[in-house]
Amino acid sequence: MRQISIVGAGYVGLVTGTCFAELGNHVVCVDIDIAKVEALRRGVVPFFEPGLEELVNRNINSGRLTFETSIHASLRDATVIFIAVGTPMGDDGHADLSYVKRAALDIAQSLVGPIVVVNKSTVPVETGDLVATIIREHKISKHDVHVVSNPEFLREGSAIVDFMKPNRIVLGVDNPDAEAVMRDLYAPLEATIIATDVRTAEMIKYAANCFLATKISFINEIAAICGDVGADIKDVVAGIGSDERIGPSFLNAGLGFGGSCFPKDVMALSKIAESRKIPARILESVLAVNRDQIANVVAKIDRLLGAVAGKRLAVLGLSFKPNTDDLRESQAMNLVRTLSSLGATIVAHDPVALEKARLELVDVDNVTLVSSAYEAVEDADGMVLATEWSEYRQVDFAVIRKLMRGDLVVDTRNIYDPVKLKDVGLRYVGIGRKEHVESLDRESAVASGSRA
Ligand code: NAD
Repeated sequence: MRQISIVGAGYVGLVTGTCFAELGNHVVCVDIDIAKVEALRRGVVPFFEPGLEELVNRNINSGRLTFETSIHASLRDATVIFIAVGTPMGDDGHADLSYVKRAALDIAQSLVGPIVVVNKSTVPVETGDLVATIIREHKISKHDVHVVSNPEFLREGSAIVDFMKPNRIVLGVDNPDAEAVMRDLYAPLEATIIATDVRTAEMIKYAANCFLATKISFINEIAAICGDVGADIKDVVAGIGSDERIGPSFLNAGLGFGGSCFPKDVMALSKIAESRKIPARILESVLAVNRDQIANVVAKIDRLLGAVAGKRLAVLGLSFKPNTDDLRESQAMNLVRTLSSLGATIVAHDPVALEKARLELVDVDNVTLVSSAYEAVEDADGMVLATEWSEYRQVDFAVIRKLMRGDLVVDTRNIYDPVKLKDVGLRYVGIGRKEHVESLDRESAVASGSRA
Protein backbone atom coordinates (compact mmCIF):
# COMPACT_ATOMS: atom_id res chain seq x y z
CA MET A 1 0.00 0.00 0.00
CA ARG A 2 1.30 3.44 -0.93
CA GLN A 3 0.18 7.01 -0.39
CA ILE A 4 -0.31 8.51 -3.83
CA SER A 5 -1.16 12.02 -4.92
CA ILE A 6 -2.60 12.72 -8.36
CA VAL A 7 -2.55 16.26 -9.78
CA GLY A 8 -5.47 16.77 -12.16
CA ALA A 9 -8.74 14.87 -11.68
CA GLY A 10 -9.78 14.76 -15.34
CA TYR A 11 -10.24 11.71 -17.54
CA VAL A 12 -6.71 10.43 -16.96
CA GLY A 13 -6.07 11.59 -13.40
CA LEU A 14 -9.39 10.42 -11.97
CA VAL A 15 -9.22 7.02 -13.64
CA THR A 16 -5.59 6.59 -12.54
CA GLY A 17 -6.29 7.66 -8.97
CA THR A 18 -9.45 5.59 -8.64
CA CYS A 19 -7.80 2.48 -10.06
CA PHE A 20 -4.78 2.81 -7.78
CA ALA A 21 -7.20 3.18 -4.84
CA GLU A 22 -9.05 0.09 -6.04
CA LEU A 23 -5.71 -1.76 -5.91
CA GLY A 24 -5.45 -0.93 -2.19
CA ASN A 25 -3.45 2.31 -2.16
CA HIS A 26 -4.44 5.54 -0.44
CA VAL A 27 -4.96 8.17 -3.10
CA VAL A 28 -5.59 11.91 -2.94
CA CYS A 29 -6.73 13.45 -6.24
CA VAL A 30 -6.05 17.18 -6.52
CA ASP A 31 -7.74 19.57 -8.90
CA ILE A 32 -7.78 23.35 -9.13
CA ASP A 33 -11.38 23.20 -10.32
CA ILE A 34 -13.21 23.64 -7.01
CA ALA A 35 -16.62 22.67 -8.42
CA LYS A 36 -15.12 19.44 -9.76
CA VAL A 37 -13.55 18.58 -6.41
CA GLU A 38 -16.81 19.31 -4.58
CA ALA A 39 -18.75 17.09 -6.98
CA LEU A 40 -16.19 14.32 -6.64
CA ARG A 41 -16.33 14.51 -2.84
CA ARG A 42 -20.07 13.79 -3.18
CA GLY A 43 -19.26 10.85 -5.46
CA VAL A 44 -20.43 12.62 -8.61
CA VAL A 45 -18.14 12.18 -11.62
CA PRO A 46 -18.46 15.28 -13.82
CA PHE A 47 -17.99 13.38 -17.08
CA PHE A 48 -19.26 10.13 -18.56
CA GLU A 49 -16.98 7.12 -18.32
CA PRO A 50 -18.60 3.67 -18.04
CA GLY A 51 -18.17 2.14 -14.57
CA LEU A 52 -16.13 5.03 -13.16
CA GLU A 53 -18.70 6.60 -10.84
CA GLU A 54 -19.39 3.27 -9.17
CA LEU A 55 -15.65 2.67 -8.65
CA VAL A 56 -15.13 6.21 -7.33
CA ASN A 57 -17.91 5.77 -4.78
CA ARG A 58 -16.67 2.37 -3.66
CA ASN A 59 -13.22 3.80 -2.96
CA ILE A 60 -14.53 6.98 -1.31
CA ASN A 61 -16.58 4.76 1.01
CA SER A 62 -13.58 2.58 1.80
CA GLY A 63 -11.63 5.72 2.76
CA ARG A 64 -8.92 5.07 0.18
CA LEU A 65 -9.88 7.89 -2.21
CA THR A 66 -10.15 11.56 -1.24
CA PHE A 67 -10.12 14.86 -3.08
CA GLU A 68 -8.31 18.13 -2.44
CA THR A 69 -7.99 21.51 -4.13
CA SER A 70 -4.34 22.01 -3.27
CA ILE A 71 -1.24 19.92 -3.82
CA HIS A 72 0.02 20.99 -0.43
CA ALA A 73 -2.87 19.23 1.30
CA SER A 74 -2.20 16.02 -0.63
CA LEU A 75 1.53 15.72 -0.09
CA ARG A 76 1.73 15.05 3.63
CA ASP A 77 2.33 11.31 3.43
CA ALA A 78 2.70 10.80 -0.33
CA THR A 79 5.77 9.09 -1.77
CA VAL A 80 4.55 9.26 -5.37
CA ILE A 81 2.82 12.13 -7.13
CA PHE A 82 1.38 11.88 -10.64
CA ILE A 83 1.01 14.90 -12.90
CA ALA A 84 -2.10 14.28 -15.04
CA VAL A 85 -3.05 17.81 -16.08
CA GLY A 86 -4.09 18.88 -19.56
CA THR A 87 -1.56 19.64 -22.30
CA PRO A 88 -3.81 21.30 -24.89
CA MET A 89 -2.67 22.61 -28.25
CA GLY A 90 -1.17 26.08 -27.88
CA ASP A 91 -1.85 28.90 -30.34
CA ASP A 92 1.35 28.03 -32.22
CA GLY A 93 0.49 24.32 -32.46
CA HIS A 94 3.02 23.31 -29.80
CA ALA A 95 1.78 21.60 -26.63
CA ASP A 96 0.78 24.19 -24.03
CA LEU A 97 2.82 23.20 -20.98
CA SER A 98 1.55 25.92 -18.66
CA TYR A 99 -0.53 23.48 -16.54
CA VAL A 100 2.41 21.09 -16.23
CA LYS A 101 4.75 23.92 -15.19
CA ARG A 102 2.23 25.17 -12.66
CA ALA A 103 1.88 21.67 -11.19
CA ALA A 104 5.68 21.30 -10.98
CA LEU A 105 5.97 24.62 -9.19
CA ASP A 106 3.20 23.71 -6.75
CA ILE A 107 4.91 20.38 -6.02
CA ALA A 108 8.23 22.15 -5.39
CA GLN A 109 6.62 24.59 -3.02
CA SER A 110 4.74 21.89 -1.10
CA LEU A 111 7.54 19.34 -0.73
CA VAL A 112 7.72 17.74 2.72
CA GLY A 113 9.64 14.52 1.98
CA PRO A 114 11.40 12.53 -0.73
CA ILE A 115 9.10 11.87 -3.65
CA VAL A 116 8.84 10.35 -7.11
CA VAL A 117 7.15 12.75 -9.54
CA VAL A 118 5.48 10.84 -12.34
CA ASN A 119 4.55 12.67 -15.49
CA LYS A 120 1.45 11.02 -16.96
CA SER A 121 0.37 13.92 -19.14
CA THR A 122 1.32 13.63 -22.82
CA VAL A 123 4.27 15.96 -23.19
CA PRO A 124 7.05 16.81 -25.63
CA VAL A 125 10.46 15.25 -25.20
CA GLU A 126 12.48 17.12 -22.57
CA THR A 127 9.45 17.97 -20.42
CA GLY A 128 10.75 15.57 -17.76
CA ASP A 129 13.93 17.65 -17.65
CA LEU A 130 11.85 20.81 -17.46
CA VAL A 131 9.77 19.51 -14.54
CA ALA A 132 12.94 18.37 -12.74
CA THR A 133 14.53 21.79 -13.23
CA ILE A 134 11.46 23.68 -11.97
CA ILE A 135 11.27 21.50 -8.88
CA ARG A 136 15.03 21.70 -8.22
CA GLU A 137 15.02 25.48 -8.50
CA HIS A 138 11.94 26.08 -6.36
CA LYS A 139 11.80 23.29 -3.82
CA ILE A 140 11.40 24.34 -0.23
CA SER A 141 13.17 21.33 1.29
CA LYS A 142 16.28 19.30 0.55
CA HIS A 143 14.47 16.00 -0.01
CA ASP A 144 15.28 13.88 -3.09
CA VAL A 145 12.95 14.24 -6.04
CA HIS A 146 13.07 11.88 -9.03
CA VAL A 147 11.07 12.65 -12.16
CA VAL A 148 9.66 9.70 -14.09
CA SER A 149 7.74 9.55 -17.36
CA ASN A 150 4.78 7.17 -17.40
CA PRO A 151 2.65 8.02 -20.43
CA GLU A 152 -0.97 6.91 -20.41
CA PHE A 153 -2.56 4.81 -23.16
CA LEU A 154 -6.11 4.43 -21.83
CA ARG A 155 -9.00 5.05 -24.17
CA GLU A 156 -12.02 7.04 -23.06
CA GLY A 157 -15.02 4.73 -23.01
CA SER A 158 -12.98 1.74 -21.81
CA ALA A 159 -10.61 3.56 -19.49
CA ILE A 160 -10.95 1.34 -16.43
CA VAL A 161 -10.32 -1.90 -18.30
CA ASP A 162 -7.46 -0.24 -20.19
CA PHE A 163 -5.89 0.84 -16.91
CA MET A 164 -6.39 -2.47 -15.12
CA LYS A 165 -5.39 -4.63 -18.08
CA PRO A 166 -2.88 -2.59 -20.06
CA ASN A 167 -1.10 -4.20 -22.97
CA ARG A 168 2.05 -2.51 -21.70
CA ILE A 169 3.23 0.02 -19.15
CA VAL A 170 5.92 2.42 -20.31
CA LEU A 171 8.29 3.75 -17.68
CA GLY A 172 10.87 6.41 -18.45
CA VAL A 173 13.22 6.29 -15.49
CA ASP A 174 16.75 7.55 -14.91
CA ASN A 175 17.09 6.36 -11.33
CA PRO A 176 16.98 2.77 -9.99
CA ASP A 177 15.16 3.70 -6.76
CA ALA A 178 12.44 5.50 -8.70
CA GLU A 179 12.18 2.54 -11.06
CA ALA A 180 11.72 0.19 -8.09
CA VAL A 181 8.90 2.38 -6.73
CA MET A 182 7.14 2.39 -10.11
CA ARG A 183 7.52 -1.35 -10.63
CA ASP A 184 6.12 -1.98 -7.16
CA LEU A 185 3.17 0.34 -7.84
CA TYR A 186 2.22 -1.48 -11.02
CA ALA A 187 3.09 -5.01 -9.81
CA PRO A 188 -0.56 -5.99 -9.10
CA LEU A 189 -1.44 -5.47 -12.78
CA GLU A 190 1.07 -8.14 -13.88
CA ALA A 191 1.57 -6.21 -17.11
CA THR A 192 4.52 -6.06 -19.46
CA ILE A 193 6.73 -3.16 -18.40
CA ILE A 194 8.85 -1.37 -20.95
CA ALA A 195 11.47 0.54 -19.00
CA THR A 196 13.54 3.11 -20.79
CA ASP A 197 14.90 6.60 -20.23
CA VAL A 198 12.60 9.59 -19.70
CA ARG A 199 13.00 11.14 -23.15
CA THR A 200 12.35 7.87 -24.94
CA ALA A 201 9.21 7.26 -22.89
CA GLU A 202 7.94 10.73 -23.79
CA MET A 203 8.60 9.97 -27.46
CA ILE A 204 6.84 6.59 -27.28
CA LYS A 205 3.55 8.28 -26.41
CA TYR A 206 3.70 10.71 -29.31
CA ALA A 207 4.83 8.00 -31.72
CA ALA A 208 1.93 5.76 -30.63
CA ASN A 209 -0.73 8.42 -31.10
CA CYS A 210 0.76 9.63 -34.37
CA PHE A 211 0.86 6.09 -35.74
CA LEU A 212 -2.80 5.47 -34.86
CA ALA A 213 -3.82 8.80 -36.40
CA THR A 214 -1.80 7.88 -39.48
CA LYS A 215 -3.79 4.66 -39.85
CA ILE A 216 -7.02 6.67 -39.74
CA SER A 217 -5.93 9.22 -42.33
CA PHE A 218 -4.48 6.44 -44.47
CA ILE A 219 -7.74 4.52 -44.54
CA ASN A 220 -9.73 7.68 -45.22
CA GLU A 221 -7.52 8.35 -48.22
CA ILE A 222 -7.97 4.76 -49.43
CA ALA A 223 -11.74 5.10 -48.89
CA ALA A 224 -11.83 8.22 -51.06
CA ILE A 225 -10.13 6.28 -53.85
CA CYS A 226 -12.47 3.29 -53.31
CA GLY A 227 -15.46 5.57 -53.60
CA ASP A 228 -14.25 6.83 -56.92
CA VAL A 229 -13.10 3.59 -58.53
CA GLY A 230 -16.05 1.46 -57.41
CA ALA A 231 -14.29 -0.63 -54.75
CA ASP A 232 -15.72 -1.19 -51.27
CA ILE A 233 -13.65 0.02 -48.32
CA LYS A 234 -15.16 -2.48 -45.88
CA ASP A 235 -13.99 -5.40 -47.98
CA VAL A 236 -10.64 -3.70 -48.54
CA VAL A 237 -10.21 -3.37 -44.76
CA ALA A 238 -11.24 -7.00 -44.24
CA GLY A 239 -8.73 -7.93 -46.91
CA ILE A 240 -5.81 -5.99 -45.49
CA GLY A 241 -6.71 -6.11 -41.79
CA SER A 242 -6.47 -9.90 -41.71
CA ASP A 243 -2.81 -9.56 -42.61
CA GLU A 244 -1.14 -9.69 -39.21
CA ARG A 245 1.49 -7.21 -40.35
CA ILE A 246 -1.32 -4.65 -40.78
CA GLY A 247 -4.11 -5.61 -38.34
CA PRO A 248 -7.74 -4.40 -38.49
CA SER A 249 -7.80 -1.76 -35.74
CA PHE A 250 -7.99 1.96 -36.49
CA LEU A 251 -8.89 1.20 -40.08
CA ASN A 252 -12.49 2.40 -40.01
CA ALA A 253 -13.07 5.04 -42.62
CA GLY A 254 -15.12 7.93 -41.34
CA LEU A 255 -15.18 11.61 -40.53
CA GLY A 256 -11.54 11.56 -39.42
CA PHE A 257 -9.98 11.58 -35.99
CA GLY A 258 -10.94 13.95 -33.18
CA GLY A 259 -10.85 13.86 -29.42
CA SER A 260 -8.57 15.40 -26.87
CA CYS A 261 -5.43 13.56 -27.98
CA PHE A 262 -4.79 12.76 -31.65
CA PRO A 263 -5.23 16.21 -33.22
CA LYS A 264 -3.07 17.98 -30.65
CA ASP A 265 -0.47 15.24 -30.37
CA VAL A 266 0.10 14.90 -34.12
CA MET A 267 0.32 18.68 -34.37
CA ALA A 268 2.71 18.88 -31.41
CA LEU A 269 5.09 16.27 -32.82
CA SER A 270 5.05 17.88 -36.27
CA LYS A 271 5.86 21.22 -34.59
CA ILE A 272 8.70 19.62 -32.63
CA ALA A 273 10.10 18.29 -35.92
CA GLU A 274 9.61 21.66 -37.61
CA SER A 275 11.42 23.52 -34.85
CA ARG A 276 14.34 21.13 -35.27
CA LYS A 277 14.22 21.45 -39.06
CA ILE A 278 13.38 17.77 -39.47
CA PRO A 279 10.91 17.12 -42.30
CA ALA A 280 7.69 15.55 -40.94
CA ARG A 281 5.85 15.05 -44.23
CA ILE A 282 3.84 12.07 -43.03
CA LEU A 283 2.54 13.90 -39.94
CA GLU A 284 1.66 16.97 -41.99
CA SER A 285 -0.24 14.81 -44.49
CA VAL A 286 -2.05 12.99 -41.69
CA LEU A 287 -3.32 16.36 -40.45
CA ALA A 288 -4.15 17.63 -43.94
CA VAL A 289 -6.18 14.51 -44.83
CA ASN A 290 -8.02 14.82 -41.53
CA ARG A 291 -8.71 18.51 -42.04
CA ASP A 292 -10.29 17.83 -45.44
CA GLN A 293 -12.47 14.97 -44.30
CA ILE A 294 -15.41 17.03 -43.05
CA ALA A 295 -15.37 19.20 -46.17
CA ASN A 296 -15.37 16.07 -48.36
CA VAL A 297 -18.35 14.55 -46.57
CA VAL A 298 -20.24 17.84 -46.59
CA ALA A 299 -19.56 18.24 -50.32
CA LYS A 300 -21.06 14.79 -50.93
CA ILE A 301 -24.16 15.60 -48.87
CA ASP A 302 -24.42 18.88 -50.72
CA ARG A 303 -24.31 17.12 -54.10
CA LEU A 304 -26.77 14.43 -53.09
CA LEU A 305 -29.30 16.89 -51.68
CA GLY A 306 -28.73 19.44 -54.40
CA ALA A 307 -27.38 21.92 -51.76
CA VAL A 308 -27.57 21.62 -48.01
CA ALA A 309 -28.73 25.22 -47.62
CA GLY A 310 -32.31 25.24 -46.45
CA LYS A 311 -32.34 21.49 -45.82
CA ARG A 312 -33.18 19.84 -42.52
CA LEU A 313 -30.61 17.28 -41.44
CA ALA A 314 -30.68 14.83 -38.54
CA VAL A 315 -27.24 14.23 -37.01
CA LEU A 316 -26.89 11.18 -34.78
CA GLY A 317 -23.98 11.21 -32.33
CA LEU A 318 -21.99 14.25 -31.18
CA SER A 319 -19.23 12.93 -28.91
CA PHE A 320 -15.88 12.35 -30.58
CA LYS A 321 -16.46 8.60 -30.29
CA PRO A 322 -19.02 6.33 -28.60
CA ASN A 323 -19.09 5.71 -24.82
CA THR A 324 -17.85 9.13 -23.84
CA ASP A 325 -19.39 12.57 -23.51
CA ASP A 326 -16.10 14.17 -24.51
CA LEU A 327 -16.70 16.72 -27.26
CA ARG A 328 -13.13 17.98 -27.51
CA GLU A 329 -12.18 18.23 -31.21
CA SER A 330 -15.19 16.07 -32.07
CA GLN A 331 -15.54 15.69 -35.84
CA ALA A 332 -19.29 15.20 -35.35
CA MET A 333 -19.45 18.66 -33.77
CA ASN A 334 -17.30 20.08 -36.57
CA LEU A 335 -19.76 18.54 -39.03
CA VAL A 336 -22.69 20.20 -37.28
CA ARG A 337 -20.92 23.57 -37.31
CA THR A 338 -20.03 23.25 -41.00
CA LEU A 339 -23.53 22.21 -42.05
CA SER A 340 -25.00 25.06 -40.05
CA SER A 341 -22.59 27.56 -41.61
CA LEU A 342 -23.83 26.43 -45.03
CA GLY A 343 -27.43 27.21 -44.12
CA ALA A 344 -28.72 23.78 -43.10
CA THR A 345 -31.03 23.24 -40.15
CA ILE A 346 -29.63 20.58 -37.81
CA VAL A 347 -31.59 18.41 -35.43
CA ALA A 348 -29.08 16.39 -33.43
CA HIS A 349 -29.11 13.64 -30.84
CA ASP A 350 -26.48 12.03 -28.63
CA PRO A 351 -27.12 9.47 -25.89
CA VAL A 352 -24.97 11.21 -23.23
CA ALA A 353 -23.36 14.38 -24.57
CA LEU A 354 -26.46 16.55 -25.12
CA GLU A 355 -25.95 18.83 -22.13
CA LYS A 356 -22.32 19.52 -22.96
CA ALA A 357 -23.22 19.98 -26.64
CA ARG A 358 -25.93 22.49 -25.72
CA LEU A 359 -23.32 24.71 -24.08
CA GLU A 360 -20.90 24.41 -26.98
CA LEU A 361 -23.44 25.01 -29.72
CA VAL A 362 -25.08 28.00 -28.10
CA ASP A 363 -23.73 30.37 -30.77
CA VAL A 364 -24.34 28.05 -33.71
CA ASP A 365 -27.39 28.89 -35.79
CA ASN A 366 -30.28 26.55 -36.50
CA VAL A 367 -29.28 23.67 -34.26
CA THR A 368 -31.86 21.85 -32.15
CA LEU A 369 -30.91 19.07 -29.77
CA VAL A 370 -33.50 16.37 -29.15
CA SER A 371 -33.76 13.37 -26.89
CA SER A 372 -34.05 10.50 -29.38
CA ALA A 373 -32.81 9.47 -32.81
CA TYR A 374 -36.40 9.12 -34.03
CA GLU A 375 -37.24 12.65 -32.93
CA ALA A 376 -34.16 13.88 -34.79
CA VAL A 377 -35.20 12.36 -38.12
CA GLU A 378 -38.76 13.74 -38.12
CA ASP A 379 -39.27 15.70 -41.36
CA ALA A 380 -35.56 15.54 -42.11
CA ASP A 381 -34.31 15.67 -45.68
CA GLY A 382 -31.37 13.54 -44.66
CA MET A 383 -29.96 11.63 -41.72
CA VAL A 384 -26.26 11.60 -40.93
CA LEU A 385 -24.82 8.97 -38.59
CA ALA A 386 -21.81 10.77 -37.14
CA THR A 387 -20.82 8.77 -34.02
CA GLU A 388 -21.54 5.06 -33.88
CA TRP A 389 -23.20 4.70 -30.48
CA SER A 390 -24.58 1.16 -30.03
CA GLU A 391 -28.17 2.37 -29.82
CA TYR A 392 -27.98 3.63 -33.41
CA ARG A 393 -26.93 0.26 -34.79
CA GLN A 394 -30.38 -1.33 -34.64
CA VAL A 395 -32.61 1.64 -35.43
CA ASP A 396 -35.80 0.72 -37.27
CA PHE A 397 -35.28 2.09 -40.75
CA ALA A 398 -38.86 1.36 -41.78
CA VAL A 399 -39.97 3.78 -39.04
CA ILE A 400 -37.24 6.24 -39.97
CA ARG A 401 -38.35 6.15 -43.62
CA LYS A 402 -41.88 7.12 -42.55
CA LEU A 403 -40.68 9.88 -40.24
CA MET A 404 -38.29 11.45 -42.72
CA ARG A 405 -39.30 13.85 -45.45
CA GLY A 406 -36.36 12.89 -47.65
CA ASP A 407 -34.66 9.56 -48.21
CA LEU A 408 -30.93 10.17 -47.76
CA VAL A 409 -28.97 8.31 -45.05
CA VAL A 410 -25.29 9.20 -44.77
CA ASP A 411 -23.48 6.56 -42.76
CA THR A 412 -20.12 8.13 -41.91
CA ARG A 413 -19.09 5.10 -39.84
CA ASN A 414 -20.11 2.42 -42.35
CA ILE A 415 -22.19 0.53 -39.78
CA TYR A 416 -25.39 -0.01 -41.77
CA ASP A 417 -26.31 -2.61 -44.35
CA PRO A 418 -26.97 -0.68 -47.58
CA VAL A 419 -29.31 -3.42 -48.84
CA LYS A 420 -31.57 -3.19 -45.78
CA LEU A 421 -31.86 0.56 -46.24
CA LYS A 422 -32.61 0.26 -49.93
CA ASP A 423 -35.32 -2.30 -49.13
CA VAL A 424 -37.27 0.31 -47.16
CA GLY A 425 -36.75 2.97 -49.81
CA LEU A 426 -33.80 4.85 -48.33
CA ARG A 427 -30.77 6.04 -50.26
CA TYR A 428 -27.61 4.80 -48.57
CA VAL A 429 -24.31 6.64 -48.67
CA GLY A 430 -21.31 5.38 -46.77
CA ILE A 431 -17.66 6.38 -46.81
CA GLY A 432 -15.91 4.58 -49.66
CA ARG A 433 -18.72 2.03 -50.07
CA LYS A 434 -19.77 0.57 -53.37
CA GLU A 435 -23.38 1.69 -52.95
CA HIS A 436 -22.12 5.15 -52.34
CA VAL A 437 -20.67 5.27 -55.84
CA GLU A 438 -23.93 4.05 -57.31
CA SER A 439 -25.80 6.81 -55.51
CA LEU A 440 -23.32 9.42 -56.53
CA ASP A 441 -23.33 8.16 -60.09
CA ARG A 442 -27.10 8.36 -60.12
CA GLU A 443 -27.03 11.84 -58.68
CA SER A 444 -24.37 13.19 -61.00
CA ALA A 445 -26.06 11.54 -63.96
CA VAL A 446 -29.36 13.19 -63.05
CA ALA A 447 -27.60 16.49 -62.41
CA SER A 448 -25.71 16.42 -65.71
CA GLY A 449 -28.58 14.86 -67.66
CA SER A 450 -26.07 12.56 -69.35
CA ARG A 451 -27.65 9.31 -68.16
CA ALA A 452 -31.17 8.49 -67.19
P1 NAD B 1 -8.64 16.88 -18.52
O1 NAD B 1 -8.73 18.22 -19.10
O2 NAD B 1 -9.83 15.99 -18.52
O3 NAD B 1 -8.13 16.96 -17.00
C1 NAD B 1 -7.09 17.78 -16.57
C2 NAD B 1 -7.44 18.26 -15.17
O4 NAD B 1 -6.28 18.91 -14.61
C3 NAD B 1 -8.56 19.30 -15.14
O5 NAD B 1 -9.58 18.84 -14.28
C4 NAD B 1 -7.88 20.57 -14.60
O6 NAD B 1 -8.74 21.35 -13.80
C5 NAD B 1 -6.74 19.97 -13.79
N1 NAD B 1 -5.60 20.86 -13.54
C6 NAD B 1 -4.97 21.71 -14.39
N2 NAD B 1 -3.94 22.31 -13.78
C7 NAD B 1 -3.90 21.85 -12.50
C8 NAD B 1 -3.07 22.10 -11.38
N3 NAD B 1 -2.04 22.94 -11.43
N4 NAD B 1 -3.35 21.46 -10.22
C9 NAD B 1 -4.38 20.59 -10.15
N5 NAD B 1 -5.21 20.31 -11.18
C10 NAD B 1 -4.97 20.93 -12.35
O7 NAD B 1 -7.42 16.17 -19.27
P2 NAD B 1 -7.24 14.61 -19.61
O8 NAD B 1 -8.07 14.24 -20.77
O9 NAD B 1 -7.36 13.83 -18.36
O10 NAD B 1 -5.73 14.61 -20.10
C11 NAD B 1 -4.65 14.82 -19.21
C12 NAD B 1 -3.36 14.46 -19.94
O11 NAD B 1 -3.37 13.06 -20.28
C13 NAD B 1 -3.15 15.21 -21.25
O12 NAD B 1 -1.79 15.44 -21.43
C14 NAD B 1 -3.64 14.21 -22.30
O13 NAD B 1 -3.02 14.42 -23.54
C15 NAD B 1 -3.20 12.90 -21.70
N6 NAD B 1 -3.98 11.74 -22.10
C16 NAD B 1 -5.34 11.84 -22.21
C17 NAD B 1 -6.08 10.71 -22.57
C18 NAD B 1 -7.56 10.79 -22.72
O14 NAD B 1 -8.14 9.84 -23.28
N7 NAD B 1 -8.23 11.83 -22.25
C19 NAD B 1 -5.42 9.47 -22.81
C20 NAD B 1 -4.04 9.43 -22.65
C21 NAD B 1 -3.33 10.56 -22.30
